[in-house]
Amino acid sequence: MSDKCIFCMIANREIPAEVVYEDPEIMAFKDLNAMAPVHLLFIPKKHIPTLNDMDEGDVAIAGRMLKVIRDVASSQGIDSAGYRVVANCNKDGGQEVYHLHFHLLGGRGLLWPPG
Ligand code: AMP
Ligand code: ZN
Repeated sequence: MSDKCIFCMIANREIPAEVVYEDPEIMAFKDLNAMAPVHLLFIPKKHIPTLNDMDEGDVAIAGRMLKVIRDVASSQGIDSAGYRVVANCNKDGGQEVYHLHFHLLGGRGLLWPPG
């Protein structure tokens, strides 16, 4: 838990979010500013600021997050058509919230390369 971290506050249910998945270590909720028909954020409940801050002990949870993302993509019905998983890191990556998260985007064709 990091004081004033908005995603820690969501994980602790101190501020509301539209939660679509939760287990003891991971939470997924709708992005407030959705960029696609399906736009979900997947966070570890543990406060890890960026991908750069992941340590060896976080490898298992990161792997499990990808499995959860795959399963939620399937339950959202976007697995066959396809989707994108994104982790923005630091300034050049466009990171705005410094609590590690994966975006799951789908429900429409997505452009590549990103801007
Ligand atoms: P990033 O640029 O990768 O750090 O993305 C942060 C994302 O968090 C943005 O897409 C925001 O729309 C989203 N976001 C910020 N605050 C909230 C919130 N309280 N609930 C849901 N999504 C949020
Ligand atoms: Zn946090």
